[in-house]
Amino acid sequence: MTLAEATRKAGVIGSGGAGFPTHVKLERPVEDVIVNGAECEPLLYSDQVVMETRTDRVMAGLRLVLSDFARRGVEPKATICVKGKYKKSVAAFRAAIGRDEPIRVLELENVYPSGDEQFLVYEATGRIVPEGGIPPMVNALVMNVGTLAQVAEAQDGRPVTERMMTVGGEVENPFVAPVPVGTPFSAILQAAMPKIEDYVLLVNGPMMGRITEDHEEVTTKTMGGLFVLPRRQSHVSRMSRPLSTEIRLSKSVCEVCRYCTDFCPRFLLGHGLEPHKVMRVINYDRDLDTKTITSAWLCCECGVCDLWACPMFLSPRVIFRQFKKRLAAAGIRNPHNNADVTVDHYRKFRGIPTDRLTKRLGLSMYDHRPQSQAPRVEPNKARIRLDQHVGAPAEPMVQQGQKVARGQMIGAIPEGKLGAAYHASIEGRVSQVTEQSITIER
Ligand code: SF4
Ligand code: SF4
Repeated sequence: MTLAEATRKAGVIGSGGAGFPTHVKLERPVEDVIVNGAECEPLLYSDQVVMETRTDRVMAGLRLVLSDFARRGVEPKATICVKGKYKKSVAAFRAAIGRDEPIRVLELENVYPSGDEQFLVYEATGRIVPEGGIPPMVNALVMNVGTLAQVAEAQDGRPVTERMMTVGGEVENPFVAPVPVGTPFSAILQAAMPKIEDYVLLVNGPMMGRITEDHEEVTTKTMGGLFVLPRRQSHVSRMSRPLSTEIRLSKSVCEVCRYCTDFCPRFLLGHGLEPHKVMRVINYDRDLDTKTITSAWLCCECGVCDLWACPMFLSPRVIFRQFKKRLAAAGIRNPHNNADVTVDHYRKFRGIPTDRLTKRLGLSMYDHRPQSQAPRVEPNKARIRLDQHVGAPAEPMVQQGQKVARGQMIGAIPEGKLGAAYHASIEGRVSQVTEQSITIER
């Protein structure tokens, strides 16, 4: 079985981002394999724990990818990108690399968004991914450390059934631990024990994450964190603002100072994205130009413009997100594909120090690595969503009432479609099957 087939069978998807199926990424060999160990979102420690405690698995996955590519005629090399401040991880990787292996460690500054795929490609290779493009266009591939560990497991026949997660905020028992895929948030809260009553939940990190109050939502293969935050915390209020308020505020107070553009990581890489212009589109109806509207497709929704740059706390990101929804609904795809781009001269001075960012968000008090013994999260029920990845949802392979073993495949990739397989994360009986999810109860 090829490596791509093994990862396809094991249901491996990118664990650090949108969840692109890994077997598709492995189909085309590239020269530069970039390992993403940056973990730049404030408050998250999941990847750091993977790097420190599963170094051998990450390295095994990386070696499998390199030898698979080498067998197919390229001479691949790897760059493991880790923040210099993660000293234990840097030391663990350096110790694990053999003398003649084409693998190096690149120490990154402690800035946001150093884990962005296109940021890493430029830092590791000096090449810029074209506008609206993906790393293979410049002969590179970015893989998260957790994904590589799962690639090693896949080759040994073990499917993806859990994900390392950071759980913190206003809780008695913060922890970093593997959590079965499909665990209801209520089961995690039971283990973490919230200290306050009036709270909301932050899913993933504060920059690219979202707020929810639904305790019956479930964990996914791409979810790295869950945080209990006071309802009245300032960051919660900003993330919960409705679109109508964003537009009203923009019309009232946008100074068109262009700080949002000057700090935008994609603009600094040379892409044709200028968030201050989109605010002009909102504020003055006469300034509607198509290029500015469609440039929404170039926005990676990193949150730098609204949560760091704007002095008036406005959000070009939310406007871009809305534009993307409307463009997609109208069937208008990204027309921007300029590959002849030049990095902005000021880029090297505009990385955002993560510690200051966390302070700006008012979240410093929650930014410490949990020291308490991590509990084993063993939910009585798991609801496994069939759409955790990029592509068509998986098709159920089980029926209500059927007994399943942990690791058994329960969702298959539809014939001829881009997709990912799913496996039972707990042993039990299937209590519900829908087109969206499969629920298993112990
Ligand atoms: S930084 Fe804020 S105030 Fe300045 S142009 Fe951008 S949205 Fe407007
Ligand atoms: S969220 Fe803002 S800063 Fe980030 S890519 Fe989009 S426009 Fe640029």
